Amino acid sequence: MGPGLYIHIPFCHSKCSYCDFYSMPLKHGMEDDYIDALLKEWELRHSELRNPPVTVYIGGGTPSILSDANLSKLLHGIGMNEMADLSEATIEVNPEDVTPARASMWRGLGINRVSMGIQALDDRLLAAIGRRHDSHTAIKAYDTLREAGFGNISLDLMYGLPSQTLEQWHRTLDVMLHRLHPEHLSAYMLSYEHGTRMTAMRDAGKIKPVDDDTVLSMYAMLCDMSRDAGYSHYEISNFALPGCESRHNSSYWDMSPYVGLGPGAHSFDGISIRRSNPWNIKTYIAALSKGITDYEEEQEDAATLHNDLVMVSLRTDRGLALECWPEYAERWMRISQPHIDSGDMALTGGRLAIAERSWPMSDAFISDLLIVM
Ligand code: SF4
Repeated sequence: MGPGLYIHIPFCHSKCSYCDFYSMPLKHGMEDDYIDALLKEWELRHSELRNPPVTVYIGGGTPSILSDANLSKLLHGIGMNEMADLSEATIEVNPEDVTPARASMWRGLGINRVSMGIQALDDRLLAAIGRRHDSHTAIKAYDTLREAGFGNISLDLMYGLPSQTLEQWHRTLDVMLHRLHPEHLSAYMLSYEHGTRMTAMRDAGKIKPVDDDTVLSMYAMLCDMSRDAGYSHYEISNFALPGCESRHNSSYWDMSPYVGLGPGAHSFDGISIRRSNPWNIKTYIAALSKGITDYEEEQEDAATLHNDLVMVSLRTDRGLALECWPEYAERWMRISQPHIDSGDMALTGGRLAIAERSWPMSDAFISDLLIVM
């Protein structure tokens, strides 16, 4: 893959009960200042990419919250239309923001891929996790995107939600894979993150988490049904029809360079330097209004680079190529041999990979291989 540009939009209409991402309600006047700060940051940092981006990803938060004028200003300001090698430009949207006019506007701005957070197709579950849309709105939004001409749509789902049953999950997957049939699907197992409303409700005994066996059955159902519907499971949480893998995310997984704009965004030079922006939006805007980029920079040593490579590679079906760092190949094989013997990992064509059925336990196999510093 080639260089990527990530643009973070940290605003949301409201907070979903499971979410621990950095996001906030959009306050009056802040959107304009924020877009100006993003454009200033790009002006100061675009030369960190030795070649122009081949992918642009506008993520959040909820990028579809931006006004038409500000989204247009942002994409024109970064010169997206002049990026000659651009192959994928994605925007994350929420179903309640999708209208025919906005979908055509996104297309007109050069966006060619939409990632939409549907999460579930059961209205009681959607309400319980604090989403603002219902299943009818989600399906209508999908149809609107298709009618506007989007031929590359990714949908997000979650499973293991409180009180979710295997039957509900089966119905959701059936509609998702057969009625909607998006080019790409991301499916995330719910995790109870520190500080979220969902975790507080669990701790107070107000909701009951789904038991581990049921969650694993949901994962197995997801793998089986998506395979039968023609999708390849190419990363722990990601599934794609042939040729429709996310190019932007794949560039993270193959250690390509990328620049991330916005509070909390990360960047990597493709060799050894990682940069991370401050989390606080006020600090971020204030620094850029003075023409200062306020990121922290870390020069990674060999052990950290090794650990990064192991972590990202073993999350994909391509796995870890032994030849990519021959000094470590013997160590990787020695440590992984028991997992290969048990069928949790496999060595195929010189690549070491975690078996699909064992991906939910991948942290354990990955941590065995990490160099402890
Ligand atoms: S819309 Fe997305 S980023 Fe915003 S609160 Fe919900 S899950 Fe978090």
